[in-house]
Amino acid sequence: MISRLTSPKARALSPYTPGEQPRGKKFIKLNTNENPYPPAPGVAACLSNYPAEELRLYPDPSSEELRRAISDWYGLSPEEVFVGNGSDEVLSFAFYSFFNPDHGPVLFPTHTYSFYPVYCSYYTLPFRKIPLAPDFSIDPEPYFSTKDYGGIALANPNAPTGIALKKNDIVDFLEKARDNRLLLLDEAYVDFGAESCSSLVRDYPNLLVIHTFSKSRSLAGIRVGFALGNPDLISTLFTVKDSFNSYPLDRLSQQAAVRAMEDRDYFDKTRKRIIITREKTSERLKKMGWEVLPSRANFIFARLPGTRGSRIYTLMREGGFLVRHFNHEGIDDFIRITIGTDEQMEAFTQAARRLFDVKREETHD
Ligand SMILES: *Cc1c(COP(=O)(O)O)cnc(C)c1O
Repeated sequence: MISRLTSPKARALSPYTPGEQPRGKKFIKLNTNENPYPPAPGVAACLSNYPAEELRLYPDPSSEELRRAISDWYGLSPEEVFVGNGSDEVLSFAFYSFFNPDHGPVLFPTHTYSFYPVYCSYYTLPFRKIPLAPDFSIDPEPYFSTKDYGGIALANPNAPTGIALKKNDIVDFLEKARDNRLLLLDEAYVDFGAESCSSLVRDYPNLLVIHTFSKSRSLAGIRVGFALGNPDLISTLFTVKDSFNSYPLDRLSQQAAVRAMEDRDYFDKTRKRIIITREKTSERLKKMGWEVLPSRANFIFARLPGTRGSRIYTLMREGGFLVRHFNHEGIDDFIRITIGTDEQMEAFTQAARRLFDVKREETHD
């Protein structure tokens, strides 16, 4: 039931549906692209030694230390970095700030991060979904040939396909956005093997690159995301933030994120481990007859010809594995599987063999 007090604006919203967070029953959780490894050891040390008496004070509203740590990592200056309460908040501010409905619809792929149409509905921005190519990659042509548009939002690698565009392709987008329209590039998964365009923000004042600590830095639980871009874009994001909440990042999150940023070895070790496990899992599934899209992310998007995606989801759930199924036309025969540890993925492929190879043998009789 919806309260009689609900405003027309709030009534019109269509919210994002996050993946299930299980309670009670023990699942191997491969449904929300969390990192199976703990955050860098420095994070635990900083949280357990944190002086609680400092929590009576407000945090730094502009997160100076964290922005410096991020800008050092990317070879930028702190004026080129914005941080927010998860990249979802950063994305929301970016949609609000840079997509102008007077210029035309925001363009993004038919199948991409399903929060983009949600932000459009929140800010009443028109949008147009551009179909993927038959191989599920992003086809640039329709973007280039659309005359009137308010900006472009791309996830690279794309979600839920995992397929990445190359840096050169992104440069084409930037060159062909002849006018001054924003290219919002969501690089949530870029650290798992795709080419980042963070170094292009100095050359292209219409590029905003958005990252998160939730995936490659194992910190989905503290909610930190950031944007890299021209100082003018960043300053606009600060204005929007300060018109909404001056302190979106608490003291603990700012500290923990700084510690995570300091440990390059740990970051490299864990992301490489996930890449190796992803490749191994993909190969195993392919040998069992699955079609697996070529992923550069910490998940794979896969289907088993002849078996409905919803059935795979249900049987895997009964077998103790949570994966993600999207009931969207064109991709509803796929499931998205987050890459866990080697042991978890070994268990997953064994369960897949047990559940689905049997059925295949039956149909072959
Ligand atoms: C996970 C994800 C995000 C959100 O990350 P948070 O920082 O946890 O809010 C943004 N974009 C894409 C494509 C994602 O998959």
